[in-house]
Amino acid sequence: MSDVVTHLSYLAAATLFIFSLRWLNRPNTARRGVAAGVGGMSLAIFGTLLHPEIVTFSWIALAALAGIAVGVPLSRVPLTAVPQRTAISHAFGGLAAGLVGTAKYLIWLHEDELTSFRTGAIVVEVLLGFLTFTGSLMAAGKLQEVIPTRPITYRGQNAVNFLLLAIAVVAGIALIADPTKAYLFPVVIALSLAFGVLLIIPIGGADMPTVISLLNSYAGLAAVAMGFVLENQLLIIAGALDGASGFILSVIMCRAMNRSFTNVLFGAFGQVQVASGVVEQRVMKSATAHDAADYLANATRVVIVPGYGMAVAQAQHRVREVYDALTKCGIDVKFAIHPVAGRMPGHMNVLLAEADIPYSSLLEMDEINPDMPQCDVCVVVGANDVVNPAARSDKGSPIYGMPIIDADKSRVVIAIKRSRNPGFAGIDNELFYAENTIMVFGDAKGVIAEIATALKEEEQQAAA
Ligand code: NAP
Repeated sequence: MSDVVTHLSYLAAATLFIFSLRWLNRPNTARRGVAAGVGGMSLAIFGTLLHPEIVTFSWIALAALAGIAVGVPLSRVPLTAVPQRTAISHAFGGLAAGLVGTAKYLIWLHEDELTSFRTGAIVVEVLLGFLTFTGSLMAAGKLQEVIPTRPITYRGQNAVNFLLLAIAVVAGIALIADPTKAYLFPVVIALSLAFGVLLIIPIGGADMPTVISLLNSYAGLAAVAMGFVLENQLLIIAGALDGASGFILSVIMCRAMNRSFTNVLFGAFGQVQVASGVVEQRVMKSATAHDAADYLANATRVVIVPGYGMAVAQAQHRVREVYDALTKCGIDVKFAIHPVAGRMPGHMNVLLAEADIPYSSLLEMDEINPDMPQCDVCVVVGANDVVNPAARSDKGSPIYGMPIIDADKSRVVIAIKRSRNPGFAGIDNELFYAENTIMVFGDAKGVIAEIATALKEEEQQAAA
């Protein structure tokens, strides 16, 4: 009987996981997606706990307490730190897979139950699990800047890395051929731990979000292998979903940046370029928040382009005030969302949804770009690379080919940022020197709040 209930709860859990991914695709169904994921996982745990022969309740309770002790503080990090938080979760996932694989190997070795199939599944699990563990820790460290973010490269690096991986794979194959050659097992573990570190060293902090989603995919594949080891179908399904979604996400991110996988993994992107002297001497037109409010009050169509700076400043609620003030006056306001604005996919959607900005006002880059020439004022709030025209015209630029939001095609551009510093890619931005651009320097939250106040004052004066 408990078998039937377990199978049914696994089936329901797998269905909920699939729906969860589907619903997570859209901002207006994302909350439902999270609930479905939590529901699916609860069912999976329930189904497993029905089998006292495979679980010991005291150990499960202890593990759950340890998980809560680590998970609760991790859930409280600011949104801007979510990429590194996600990397740490993947590290735990990889470590869990690696440890389960190691335990199973030792148990089956002792009980003389190691078949080549079982050993094969364990080798894949351990290889992927441990490399995900160290790789994800390195990625989190780079994003948190506790280890150098710049790419560390040396001659013959790729050859060394591939040689190391090849030795690990050969040791794994030898182990599969003769599972009793136990001395090979620590070799596979040590090499995969080392490979995880060496894989990340040559990649710049700039590419870490993409790498993290790739590591998510590896963690998923490690879970698939663990599913084969533990003969647990749900683990295989959930791992496959995780592996595929992580991979698809990295492909989407690479496309949005017009980069290839090989360029991300071996391109050493993110070394800050020294801006040329010619560009340095050029003048940016600076204005006040009141000037910006005047432009906005006289516009018919406004497009707001949010970027990483809006997230850092937590300016989304002030942006909402500007949105309210403008729409109240009958001005059409839309948000242009670039797929890689901010530091993680969907970053801007999450922030704007938090400020209750209607989803209908959020337009993807491809939807809004044809309308940009008809836009009266484009407000760039802490965005830089995603509106940099060099991506269209400068073949030497590291972001050449990346699709951008055509902010420069708007009649007037108001750019809000704190300084002349470059954005994520470390390059200067032509847009900020353009004839039709005015810069309002300052923290996005403060500047936007001033604009909102000025707009409200103008509205009151008009009403009086
Ligand atoms: P960005 O190019 O990093 O520029 C952000 C700008 O915000 C900076 O120029 C900065 O200038 C400004 N800023 C920072 N703090 C601010 C504050 N408190 N108030 C006002 N302005 C502030 O950001 P983006 O345009 O959003 O582009 C995202 C970049 O991240 C792209 O290069 C993309 O390829 C990369 N990336 C994104 C993802 C993803 O999934 N979203 C993944 C991997 C890589 P100041 O310092 O002068 O203020």
